[in-house]
Amino acid sequence: MHEKCGVVGVSLTDREAARPLYYSLYALQHRGQESAGIVTHDGFQQHEHVEMGLVGDAFDPDDLDTLNGANGIGHVRYPTAGGVNTCCAQPFSVSFKSGSLGLAHNGNLVNAEEVREELAELGHAFTSNGDTEVIAHDLARNLLEEDLVRAVKSTMSRIHGSYSLTIMHDETVLGVRDPQGNRPLCIGELEDGYVIASESAAIDTLDGELIRDVKPGELVVLHPNGSGYDTYQLVDESRTAHCFFEHVYFARPDSVIDEELVYEVRRDLGRTLWEESGVETDVVMPVPDSGRSFASGYAEAAAEDGADTEFAEGLMKNRYVGRTFIMPTQDERERAVRLKLNPIKSTIEGRTVTLIDDSIVRGTTSTQLIELLRDAGAEEIHVRIGSPEIIAPCYLGIDMASRDELIAADKTTEEIRDEIGADSLSYLSIEGVTNALGKDHDDLCLGCVTGEYPYDVEGEQTDRDVSRPIIDNASSADD
Ligand code: AMP
Repeated sequence: MHEKCGVVGVSLTDREAARPLYYSLYALQHRGQESAGIVTHDGFQQHEHVEMGLVGDAFDPDDLDTLNGANGIGHVRYPTAGGVNTCCAQPFSVSFKSGSLGLAHNGNLVNAEEVREELAELGHAFTSNGDTEVIAHDLARNLLEEDLVRAVKSTMSRIHGSYSLTIMHDETVLGVRDPQGNRPLCIGELEDGYVIASESAAIDTLDGELIRDVKPGELVVLHPNGSGYDTYQLVDESRTAHCFFEHVYFARPDSVIDEELVYEVRRDLGRTLWEESGVETDVVMPVPDSGRSFASGYAEAAAEDGADTEFAEGLMKNRYVGRTFIMPTQDERERAVRLKLNPIKSTIEGRTVTLIDDSIVRGTTSTQLIELLRDAGAEEIHVRIGSPEIIAPCYLGIDMASRDELIAADKTTEEIRDEIGADSLSYLSIEGVTNALGKDHDDLCLGCVTGEYPYDVEGEQTDRDVSRPIIDNASSADD
């Protein structure tokens, strides 16, 4: 199960939470288009509405009117490899002896099966094969014996993998980020309350102020009346494992993640790309929208070096076509690229072109675009990519294709250049990425470009001293 999702939670003083949650989910729509859901609590009972589809389709005004209460959480979910999957739409909610729980999860546990098996033996009945339900059941079990903070800590000691969670326990909203902080999560202040969200762009949408990132291993508890929040550093790891791909592709450029504005990071990656493998062509052209910030940094650095090159849009995007990845077959993916992008012949014909994108995954997009540009009369096409070769899958929450689908898994850069039909091809180096991000190699998750992961993934190498918890002995954590 590969889920890349968006989560949010709000607590307000004297206002229904449903609409702010709905607007936040709109702001996080890029993180998931398969389903959307909101769970609120009005002080007496929990209300939920979870639907397949985009946020705008999943809710109508009547649905929002039934979601009573000033506290709530929300979720948008990305399609899984297997396609549409109603059982895993979120937030996941459950009622149990000591109250109600709602859970929204971004990330992916790598030991969910072990925890699930143990809980199943204890009599827990599961309705889905998702890892979020495993977290909910584990937490519900701990809440029978422990207070909220201890219960969360116990669950954190048993689950291994990436998770940024918003949780609703009765009317209390919580935010939790895994001890290595793989997925983003931040906290913001509103005029009349507080918000926890995957990305700061959601806080901006509510006219709020970003306070800070939730720290890796930290629990944030919002006061149910919107008056404040408490934080608890429940687990301390010496190193972080922030996903570099959030900065490269996944997050919105206008979000601040781990104290960096994503747009500026992408421009720096573009500048580094010029320094590492710049080539002077008549025109520098982004693949919209993913390559835009990279291309603007690249073109700026080229101009500073005196290169005689023009920055221009040569491909126009049909904004009503969704992301190519949601097409399940290769044939559909190829058609989708044609539907999505159309060349502007006058900027291309008879000219040498540098085409800039953030990443190559299967190679479908680049192959199709190079063919389009050649048909439009490009003389030379040089492809520059703002991230290193993706050689291994992501197990931590980004839907990235399996090894046998990844074009760089078993090919040299020269072989890839040949296959996609470019005149030259260069990727950014791993060092170029870490420098542009201003982070140490050991504080990032670079699993998809190194094949070594900062989590204990079965059958894969680790890049640090890390191992999954032993489940049988770890039913409760120390204080
Ligand atoms: P591909 O055509 O398979 O090589 O995919 C590369 C294109 O997909 C690039 O334009 C990226 O911006 C975009 N992309 C990269 N990673 C993902 C992802 N996990 N999901 C959807 N699109 C992606």
